[in-house]
Amino acid sequence: MINKNQYDETKPLDMHDLQFDIAAQRLDIEGWILEKIKYPRREFSVRFPLRLDNGDIVQLAGYRVQHNTLRGPGKGGIRYHPRVDLDEVRALAAWMTWKCAVVNIPFGGAKGGVTCDPSQMTSNELENLTRRYVFEISPLIGPEQDIPAPDVNTSPQVMSWIVDTYSVLKGYTCNSVVTGKPVCIGGSLGRLKATSMGCLYTMLEAAKVLGLDLQDKSVAVQGFGNVGYYAAELFIAAGMKLVAISNSKGGVYNPRGLDLTALKEHYDHGGRLGGFAAAEEITNTELLELDCDILVPAALENQITRDNAERIRARFVVEGANGPTSPFADDILYDKGIMVLPDILANAGGVTVSYFEWVQNLQKLFWSEDDVNRQLAKIIGQAFSEVYRIHQAEKVNMRTAAYMLALGRVAEAKQVRGIFP
Ligand code: NAD
Repeated sequence: MINKNQYDETKPLDMHDLQFDIAAQRLDIEGWILEKIKYPRREFSVRFPLRLDNGDIVQLAGYRVQHNTLRGPGKGGIRYHPRVDLDEVRALAAWMTWKCAVVNIPFGGAKGGVTCDPSQMTSNELENLTRRYVFEISPLIGPEQDIPAPDVNTSPQVMSWIVDTYSVLKGYTCNSVVTGKPVCIGGSLGRLKATSMGCLYTMLEAAKVLGLDLQDKSVAVQGFGNVGYYAAELFIAAGMKLVAISNSKGGVYNPRGLDLTALKEHYDHGGRLGGFAAAEEITNTELLELDCDILVPAALENQITRDNAERIRARFVVEGANGPTSPFADDILYDKGIMVLPDILANAGGVTVSYFEWVQNLQKLFWSEDDVNRQLAKIIGQAFSEVYRIHQAEKVNMRTAAYMLALGRVAEAKQVRGIFP
């Protein structure tokens, strides 16, 4: 029996461990295998100096955690954020293992990060930081070992610096060392929007099994970055109505619908969402609690907790972000009849198209964007139906169902691979 009070809701790693334990207790997996697959395989901590443009020198801490490599190379993004620490990277790496297993692609899970505040850094400083961090973790990464990708505050440009640094170290161009890079150096068409496309496909699958028409349904999105912005764009293109969107500074709301193109122009000129004429300003707290049909948290962890879950009014929560909803909140939302489409399913579109990018790089050929999206829809559709079947058969929420599927697959890999020596 799980004592939930032992887990700290403010800690992503505790939330991962609780999600794992809830699913594990429903599965018949040997204890030593559970122990093996719950914890990281390898953890790498680095410290290095960075010379700022003004001549000052600061010491930075970075991490790369390979949670699991039983089903294939480690795979997972790199995050630059002041809140990055080893425990957060451990949680994010573990979520990658389960995500890759849910969509059944041949990767394990990994994640990296540097504790820094990119909003205070110049492009030159970010480039130097990236190159030095990659140098430090270079013994651990590689196309067959561990393949980084973008995450919070890391972009296709950052991926390009990683390709260049790693290639210089190796002595030949090695673009398959990362995914999410620009198309001109081997990136995949469709990768930029892939995570958001996966959110949309997951929502469409849910609507299909529930017999729901999504036309004109209202959508609120937390996050105006890679995942949030394109989720808003794609949900609108699919016939839904964007009523609110936010970034770290707050958001804007219009129940009649927001013009995303005009909002983007306003943001590009002034650097903020607030002040947009055709909307009222709201806080992130207010956004999460809006009366809307679909809520897409696409920013950071720990947004829907036992403190605000009771006040969530959306019918669906589509997790673009990793770890936005705690298991405590999951229980409350489940009782309220709110369907949470969990991160390890709903935002798996990013890593799935990363997998396509890696396959294209290794085969030295290119797919069309239509091919990418068709294959993505197929994989998300398959994963959704497997998770939904467990959700119904076992009478568990969609998150626990997804974990049960993923843990089963990774445990099976351990069982057949056995122990070395
Ligand atoms: P990003 O850096 O492009 O954008 C992050 C957005 O979140 C920004 O608009 C930022 O202002 C906003 N934000 C930051 N703190 C916030 C807060 N406290 N409240 C509200 N908004 C806040 O990052 P991204 O790549 O879009 O990643 C967002 C989330 O999606 C993360 O949880 C990430 O792990 C997850 N994710 C990303 C990918 C990917 O392919 N980029 C794939 C899967 C999951």
